[in-house]
Amino acid sequence: MVSSQGVTPVDLVPSAYRLRPSVALKGPSVESDKLQVFLAEQEKQLHDSFSAEAYHNLPEWPNLAQLELAIGAALKHLSYPKGREVRRVKKLWGLTRLMGLAYGGPAYHDVISAEVVVASHEDLPSSKFWKWTCVAHEVVHAQGFTREMDTEIITWLAFYLSTDPMKQNFARMMLLQKSGQEFQWPAELLGEFKRVREERKKVQAEQWLVSFFRTLGESSGVQNSGAKYGTVSKGKKIPEDHEFFRSVYKMAH
Ligand SMILES: [Zn+2]
Repeated sequence: MVSSQGVTPVDLVPSAYRLRPSVALKGPSVESDKLQVFLAEQEKQLHDSFSAEAYHNLPEWPNLAQLELAIGAALKHLSYPKGREVRRVKKLWGLTRLMGLAYGGPAYHDVISAEVVVASHEDLPSSKFWKWTCVAHEVVHAQGFTREMDTEIITWLAFYLSTDPMKQNFARMMLLQKSGQEFQWPAELLGEFKRVREERKKVQAEQWLVSFFRTLGESSGVQNSGAKYGTVSKGKKIPEDHEFFRSVYKMAH
């Protein structure tokens, strides 16, 4: 299963070696001013179209069949053949649970069983936004994309192409969250993030074995990093040739 995440050069997924979306798109560099205008538009559209009620009514976890369809549409949009169908989403358990929670990799696509495995809310209290984008991300891995950056680009596109305003907002939120820039989240989300942070603190205080391995991982530098997912460090300028942002900009224009 780790091989499906591009950890080793040999991969068990036959369709794993796909042309990178950023290469397929031939997205040129984006001048900083243009990117800033684009991000400001995305933030405005998020606030204009965000419905607290719609978010509240959204199921805690996404429907797998609907996600498959949305991701299928994104693949078609970029002329990629469809990959593997995910059979079900199941909860992270055992040793992978321990390692996933400790090292910041709380979900994966199991290439043997064709399942998406993700930490339960009880183990890792998370926002709905995180749950939806996380499961979508893993389903994209199942389509044969191993690199995290590629996977995030396709995940973004699947939400972006949706006709549902909330899914479109997920695409905007992904973008703004990765940008490292100052922006305002809608109040409903801020409330949820705060509740989740408090819940997580309580849960983690009792996960002593996870904490032990997390501390060990942090001291030896074995932790997952946001950069390979396209996240820019807070306050840092987005490079004009940033793979995620130039690809997304190209798809949106
Ligand atoms: Zn991944």
